[in-house]
Amino acid sequence: MGTTCILDVATPLTMVLAETTSQDSIYYLHGLDLVAQSDGTTIDYLAYDGLGSVRQVLDDVSVPLLNQTFDPYGNLLARGGTGESRFGFTGEQVDANGLVYLRARYYQPGMGRFLNMDPSRQEMNPYQYGFSNPIDYTDPSGLIPIECMIDSDSDECLDARFRPYIVSREQWGAREPVFEYCYEDFYGEECIRGEDVFWEGLYDADCNPDGYAPYEDYKPGQTLEEIIFGAVIHHSGNTNDMTIQEVQNEHMDGNEHMADIGYHFVIAKDGTIYEGRDIGVRGFHVTAANTGRVGILVVGDFEPGDWLGTYPNDMKISNEDPDIPTSNQIDSLTALIRYLDVIYGLRLVEGHNDVNPDTRCPGNRLEPYVVQLDSQFGGE
Ligand SMILES: [Zn+2]
Repeated sequence: MGTTCILDVATPLTMVLAETTSQDSIYYLHGLDLVAQSDGTTIDYLAYDGLGSVRQVLDDVSVPLLNQTFDPYGNLLARGGTGESRFGFTGEQVDANGLVYLRARYYQPGMGRFLNMDPSRQEMNPYQYGFSNPIDYTDPSGLIPIECMIDSDSDECLDARFRPYIVSREQWGAREPVFEYCYEDFYGEECIRGEDVFWEGLYDADCNPDGYAPYEDYKPGQTLEEIIFGAVIHHSGNTNDMTIQEVQNEHMDGNEHMADIGYHFVIAKDGTIYEGRDIGVRGFHVTAANTGRVGILVVGDFEPGDWLGTYPNDMKISNEDPDIPTSNQIDSLTALIRYLDVIYGLRLVEGHNDVNPDTRCPGNRLEPYVVQLDSQFGGE
């Protein structure tokens, strides 16, 4: 009952050279594509459509033995003739149950999705096939669309290749930004739109220049690639271990009454990366230099010693042992910086105290990594 296959595993994508059952054998002839199949006596030739799906099987005088067409997701629309081929949608092997064998995983045309999860477990949607765009992308490896190997500059391909797994705001249950009020203490009564609470509020050139500033409003006509030029790395200092929820609550409910969490990303001690403030909104994490700088908090207290900083947030009153960043944190930070560099083109990777020298943030146990990341990913 079984089928024995002879495989060519020296090619980037494993190819079937022959299949043998107790009844018969089929031999496959490969050129740039699979060009023909033979039972040892007669040879049938395969003809493809633009996506690489097998549209026809022809005999040796070009008479069609099989005609078939598929919908964009690979479901059979029509089939006629007596010829056969195990190769169909996108030129790949199809099992008798209709599943398409894409090496790392099976693809289910009826659902338009993979039947198994992405083996890397890095994809935001681990069952998605071809970025849900099966006309432009095919995935013979089951790992990443092959178009990303050839022309890798589309946003989808760059994300697939470089984006680390990031826990989204929705996943961790972020509070919605609050920005209906101005920052009265700074900008005077004429700007007050609320009464007792002085939220950071929406950006307003006259009334609230430090406010919550979506770049599409604050820098109209400029792309994020044009605006974002740097990443600034922070630690949580004396507070040490904090959840992303605690960071957001502290920012929104504390003295600064920020409209939202100030950092764009938070990296927990176990290395998990959380999405903070929307990347399309100016951060609130350094003084007077937030435009174009992505704020990243690495959770921990990376500054040893008993000292009293000049910056209010940095006052250290105890001498507890400092942390050293975990290897998971450094791996995640490196992956995140690499991704930001690929997408936005970073020119600078800084520590908070490179921007505001009156703070010890991100701590001298983290600073060497900042220097290393700047030399690796900063610059053009
Ligand atoms: Zn900082």
